[in-house]
Amino acid sequence: MQTVRLSDNKEGIVAAARILRDGGVVAIPTETVYGLAASAYNDNAIAKVFSAKGRPQDNPLIVHISSLDMLNEVAVEIPKEAEKLAEAFWPGPLTLVLKKSENVAQSVSKGLSTVAVRMPEDKVAREIIKQSCLPLAAPSANISGSPSPTTAEHVLADLDGRIDAVVMSGSSNVGLESTVVTLSVSPPTLLRPGAVTVEQLKKFLPDLVIDKAVLCEPLKDEQVASPGMKYKHYSPKTELFLVEAGSEAFVEFVNGKTDCAAICFDEDLDKIKTKALCYGSVSDPKTQASKLFSLLRKTDTLGVSKVYVHAPEKSGIGLAVYNRLIRAAAFKVITL
Ligand code: AMP
Ligand code: MG
Repeated sequence: MQTVRLSDNKEGIVAAARILRDGGVVAIPTETVYGLAASAYNDNAIAKVFSAKGRPQDNPLIVHISSLDMLNEVAVEIPKEAEKLAEAFWPGPLTLVLKKSENVAQSVSKGLSTVAVRMPEDKVAREIIKQSCLPLAAPSANISGSPSPTTAEHVLADLDGRIDAVVMSGSSNVGLESTVVTLSVSPPTLLRPGAVTVEQLKKFLPDLVIDKAVLCEPLKDEQVASPGMKYKHYSPKTELFLVEAGSEAFVEFVNGKTDCAAICFDEDLDKIKTKALCYGSVSDPKTQASKLFSLLRKTDTLGVSKVYVHAPEKSGIGLAVYNRLIRAAAFKVITL
């Protein structure tokens, strides 16, 4: 199949919407990462998303909407908390797990009685949803397991020839997938950290708990609240290790190693003697988030067999950065 490159202007948006209405799959920009979109009402189109990505069949998709009217088409029995969160954080990088409406194709939620819903902030994404008059199910537009795509070029590196089209727009601002919160259980539970932080959510959900799969490796065959948590994720081919240490200890550690590179903070860079990629200041998790996936893709071009990543703080957006890194490192953490 030839993957059509569409621009992010009016013409491109109309063309993308037409392909989606016809049951095709289109990679679209969002502020979190690029998404691989298909009609949330069309089982056939959803099957194409799973096969293009090689996504595990039990991992459900997030449905993207452009209005609150659309929310009422895809979810039922919407609790008051959801309305408050929507008002505070939508459009934006927050996904809510709610009770599913029968309108949504079975294959979107993979047999669950719930549906994950988000209204993206990216104007191009919202306009494509609006023009197609469809809620769009869209996981990240990468081959499953590889780092998520934050540019159209990343999408093409993974999916060229496997999808109908890609809307060529700018880099994703946030750079990490959305925060996922389920309101379908009590107490409400954070399933995946993202740019909307626990601290922000607690103002609306004081009893919010953090699912243990956010920071720990699920045991084999353990039931997880969010199926996506149990898969290896975001991994470059090069072996990654997460290193929890102060700046001095981290620098001394990597300088003592051979055949390796470092992903480090601005503050470490001058003192590191090996190859190093920098993902922002230690105190700037927003920048760390926006650079992370690009850097993970770059590690395979460095010609080393191991990469040591200086671990971020586990608070604010840092918790989301840490959550992606610990999976990229297959839970290999070195504490100094
Ligand atoms: P991705 O679209 O690749 O960023 O992944 C979507 C994430 O949302 C995965 O971790 C899914 O397991 C999770 N998810 C989607 N739908 C549901 C749902 N109904 N209940 C719980 N988690 C969900
Ligand atoms: Mg993904």
